[in-house]
Amino acid sequence: MGLKENLNRIWLEIDAALKKNGRSRQDLHLIAVSKTRSLAEIKELYDLGQLDFGENKAQELRDKQPNLPNDIRWHMIGHLQSNKLKYVVGKCALIHSVDSLKLAREINEFAQKHQVSANILLQLDIARDGKKQGFVEKEINAAIEEIQTFSHVQVHGLMTIAPFGLSTDENRQIFQRIKQISVDIQAKNYDNVNMNVLSMGMSNDFALAIEEGATHLRIGTAIFGERDY
Ligand SMILES: *Cc1c(COP(=O)(O)O)cnc(C)c1O
Repeated sequence: MGLKENLNRIWLEIDAALKKNGRSRQDLHLIAVSKTRSLAEIKELYDLGQLDFGENKAQELRDKQPNLPNDIRWHMIGHLQSNKLKYVVGKCALIHSVDSLKLAREINEFAQKHQVSANILLQLDIARDGKKQGFVEKEINAAIEEIQTFSHVQVHGLMTIAPFGLSTDENRQIFQRIKQISVDIQAKNYDNVNMNVLSMGMSNDFALAIEEGATHLRIGTAIFGERDY
C-alpha cells in the first residue's frame, strides 16, 4: 500500500476514535515518525499535506532538516544527549523526550545562550519496565518546581511510551495514569508550565490513546510500513 492509502486509513481510524469520545480533529495532531525514512518518502508525505514529522536521533534530524521544506514542524522524540543539543534546540517545534532534570537545565542554558526558546514535554516512565525511559512519577513534581523557574524553556505537557506486549487493559491504565498526572500538574498552576499536550499513542495503540486523551500521536510503521534497521 502507498503512503496516501495508509494516511487515509489512519485518519479514518482517528476520526472513529475521536467521534467515540466526542472530540474533534482540532485538538489532535498526527506526527509522522520518519526515522530511517528517506527524504523522498518524507517529501511524498509532505506533498499530501502532512506537516508534522518526528525523529528520534539528533543527527538524523540535522541531516534531513536542511533538505526538506522549511514549513515542516519537527518533533524530537528520542533520547537527547547533551552534546547534540545544537541540532535540536531552536530547530524543533517541540522536544517530546526531556527525560531528566539535568537535560532540562542544559536545554535552558543552551536556549538562553542562543536567544531561542525551547518548547518541551516531560517524558514519563509510567510502566517502569526497567528501561528507564523518562521521569518516574515521584520525581515529577520536584522537577517541575525547578523547571518552572527556567527562563528559556516552556513546558507544554507530558509524553510517554507504552511498552510492547501489554494487554489492552494494561495499556489503557498507563494512558489513564499519565492523563491523571497531567490534570494534577495543571491544577498546581506552575509558571511556564501548561498541560495542553499529551503525546502518546503509536502505530499499535493510537486509537486507545485517543480515547484516553492523547493530543499528539507518534505514528511510524502504520504510515510508512515496517522499518528495516
Ligand atoms: C519509533 C517511535 C515511534 C513510532 O513507532 P511506530 O510503532 O512505528 O508507530 C513513536 N515514538 C517513539 C518515541 C519512537 O521512537
